[in-house]
Amino acid sequence: MPQPAVAPDPAGPPTEHFDVLVVGAGISGVGAAYHLTQQCPDKSFVVLEAYESFGGTWHMHRYPGIRSDSDLYTFGYRFKPWTGPPIATAGEILTYMNEVIEENDLGQHIRYGHRIERASWSNDDLRWTVEATRLDTGESVVFTAGFLWMCQGYYRHAQGYTPEWEGMEDFEGEIVHPQTWPEDLDYTGKCVVVIGSGATAATLIPAIAGETEHVTMLQRSPTYFFPAENQNEMADTLRELEIDEAWIHEITRRKILSDQAKVTQACIDQPEDMKKLLVGAVKALLPEGYDVEKHFTPRYRPWQQRLAFVPSGDIFQGISAGKASVVTDEIDCFTKRGIRLRSRDELEADIIVTATGFNLSVLGDIQFEVDGKPLDFAKTLTYRGMMFTGLPNLLWIFGYFRASWTLRVDLLCDFVCRLLKHMDANGYRRVEVGLRAEDADMPLLPWIDPDNFNPNYLMRSMHLLPKRGDKPEWQHTQDYWREKDEIPAIDLEGEEFRYD
Ligand SMILES: Cc1cc2nc3c(=O)[nH]c(=O)nc-3n(C[C@H](O)[C@H](O)[C@H](O)COP(=O)(O)OP(=O)(O)OC[C@H]3O[C@@H](n4cnc5c(N)ncnc54)[C@H](O)[C@@H]3O)c2cc1C
Repeated sequence: MPQPAVAPDPAGPPTEHFDVLVVGAGISGVGAAYHLTQQCPDKSFVVLEAYESFGGTWHMHRYPGIRSDSDLYTFGYRFKPWTGPPIATAGEILTYMNEVIEENDLGQHIRYGHRIERASWSNDDLRWTVEATRLDTGESVVFTAGFLWMCQGYYRHAQGYTPEWEGMEDFEGEIVHPQTWPEDLDYTGKCVVVIGSGATAATLIPAIAGETEHVTMLQRSPTYFFPAENQNEMADTLRELEIDEAWIHEITRRKILSDQAKVTQACIDQPEDMKKLLVGAVKALLPEGYDVEKHFTPRYRPWQQRLAFVPSGDIFQGISAGKASVVTDEIDCFTKRGIRLRSRDELEADIIVTATGFNLSVLGDIQFEVDGKPLDFAKTLTYRGMMFTGLPNLLWIFGYFRASWTLRVDLLCDFVCRLLKHMDANGYRRVEVGLRAEDADMPLLPWIDPDNFNPNYLMRSMHLLPKRGDKPEWQHTQDYWREKDEIPAIDLEGEEFRYD
């Protein structure tokens, strides 16, 4: 097992050196650690994680009912079979990740409670210097690394996004964001209004409806929901036939991915037909005469935003039972007792939950420098949504939104390991991406095409993100089905890779 070199600095804390430094121990960082041990066993590496445990998204979200909205056959790693029902709770995902860590002895590489504050690249030393704060002691610690692998996710963990509404300070009840759900919040017998209609609202509402007096989902505009049973028939049949779990995992993944490709294509080719199908499935679960047109017929095309999976249509059961209801309107202001709507109606509430989304966090809120100059990330251009012009020896895992995030984790981990081996084999110590001659006149566009994918948190923060070009090499296409073939085939001696 390779040992990190410790180079004490007489003027400060000891600096530890690793070949690779991974930022974050969520599903991406743990995947990076696994693939490094398997594919690059000679590389020394460390994973620095701000929280006291692994899991990222699944560790810090604690609201009632928190669960995945993708199936775990594809949200799970390709190398570790998923054996439960497709949709999993945060607890089940954490158990799965813990098994990956324990079975592969990854814990020795992870340092918890280390929040990275600064990262600077030096073209003289050809390495990154990373400064972190140890949250248990407040001490500053310094690391150097040949390659910086950003697995920090995409949103600010400490605080969710809550818009400013007039009168919020007058409201006499409690305002709660799902991202920072108070452990002791008592909603028994209370009137709860949940602002928002995304996956979080769809999860939270059925989880609390039974105990509240009433819960209202207040939405500005409707979302697509995809109600289905939380089971996978093919996996269940294969299991009955006592097929090996590794086979079941692979076969079920392929079937789900093939089905999803067909659905995605249908959404692009026949958006109106798909819209009818999705809205029809919801209508079938609601009482006769329910205003589906107003509350469950979105204005955007299916697949322009993530489709919210609803196991067993649970939110619709709550509506049918009269425990939950939907209001489609805009907020005029908060009042002492609740919310006044543009329609002049008032919603009374003891608790208001703002399921209004995330704040995008760019590069883990770490201050970046290249040769002593602060980095303006928005001025860089992305290579396939993973590397950036002007940022040597760095890769960011930004997964998929339409397909499971983790599909891209496995793909990019293979890519990083191949790149590191290629650099070693050729004696290269520095890699940076740059435009090819054929890209000289390429237009530089915002990070994502709003016509392709347009969730609010990305729309709000587009100005903070790198630019994209109009060719697949210079953008995050969000297309797993294309990238699964393209990424493994990338020519590492292509003109876009510059090595020293
Ligand atoms: C409620 C919710 C449900 C979701 N459901 C799904 C789903 O079903 N399917 C799907 O594909 N996607 C889903 N997503 C998207 C989800 O975020 C990703 O799928 C995935 O979990 C992201 O993993 P990650 O490891 O890249 O990032 P994260 O889970 O965000 O983890 C990043 C880690 O990096 C650490 N970190 C960040 N900055 C620093 C720093 N400066 N120093 C040290 N450590 C740092 C964080 O503490 C964190 O632990 C969901 C997101 C949310 C919020």
